[in-house]
Amino acid sequence: MNMEHFLDPRPKVKNSILIVDDDPLGVIALYNALNADYALYAVKDGQSAINKALELKPDLIVMDIFMPEMSGFEVMALLKQQEETRDIPIILITGLDEGSVEEKGLQMGAVDYISKPFSETIVKLRINNQLKVINAMRTINQMSITDCLTDAFNRRYFDHMLEQEWLRAIRDKTPLSVLLIDVDLFKAYNDTYGHIQGDIALVRIANAVKSALKRSVDIVARWGGEEFAVIMPNTNIEGAEKIADDLRTAIEKMGIPARDGSLTFVTVSIGVNSTTPGSGGTVTDFISGADKALYAAKDAGRNNVCSAI
Ligand code: GH3
Ligand code: MG
Ligand code: MG
Repeated sequence: MNMEHFLDPRPKVKNSILIVDDDPLGVIALYNALNADYALYAVKDGQSAINKALELKPDLIVMDIFMPEMSGFEVMALLKQQEETRDIPIILITGLDEGSVEEKGLQMGAVDYISKPFSETIVKLRINNQLKVINAMRTINQMSITDCLTDAFNRRYFDHMLEQEWLRAIRDKTPLSVLLIDVDLFKAYNDTYGHIQGDIALVRIANAVKSALKRSVDIVARWGGEEFAVIMPNTNIEGAEKIADDLRTAIEKMGIPARDGSLTFVTVSIGVNSTTPGSGGTVTDFISGADKALYAAKDAGRNNVCSAI
């Protein structure tokens, strides 16, 4: 597979572009150049641009510099100050073909600069090029946090998010829970059915874990070979134990035969830990508590849930 195809930058849905221009003729020219390929939105002043950018999170903003009330530079500075809009790429447009204006725009973080009057074809090609880069970056970012077999998050993302959620829970004084899930006797499963079937079973188990978690803030990751981990922000021990047991039951009920001809099914053991961070203990202690609880669940005969506390 060639890499260009592998990192296919074509989006599944049309990329969205927010046009910001006080001059209706400028908007029409861009509309004509871009309407066939992109989902377009247009506003005619800076404040509306900021509101629309927050609401839509467009893939790209194409903005005139010279507008009454707020200039394109001011709008760009405000967009760069806000976390939600900081990373939206901006292409600046102006009627003045002035080197100093172009330099200022690029220094402030614009990804490109177009002078009016422009050729529709050239604008279209330049915007296509920018969006190819943007889409490829997005694919790479997504790949860097995803486990390619199960499509759950990967260990790197898990570690990062656990730190983030730990700090957030300290700030908000809220509880935080974690589950470590290990497939029982999975070596025997692979030995019986082969690794391809083993992989298929892991995908099914990952999907079962994802669908048992109803809150969008919960994070499901593949922690290691046949181990998954879940971060549950703002969840206390009772909530976490209930979810862990629902999960354990759901996986057993999938009825994946553990061995040829056997009536026993693939099961998981789960270690649970919960705390209100900030009351002593580190994030490493927290995970290692869950890991010990997982071993206790194995010792208790597998297909079990145990808590660290
Ligand atoms: P226990 O109940 O004590 O966890 O027993 P176990 O056999 O699951 O534990 P062990 O650590 O001995 O073996 C884990 C096995 O999981 C080893 C390997 O065959 C399997 N495994 C790990 N990663 C993958 C994977 O990506 N694909 C497949 N098919 N199997 C995997
Ligand atoms: Mg294991
Ligand atoms: Mg195992």
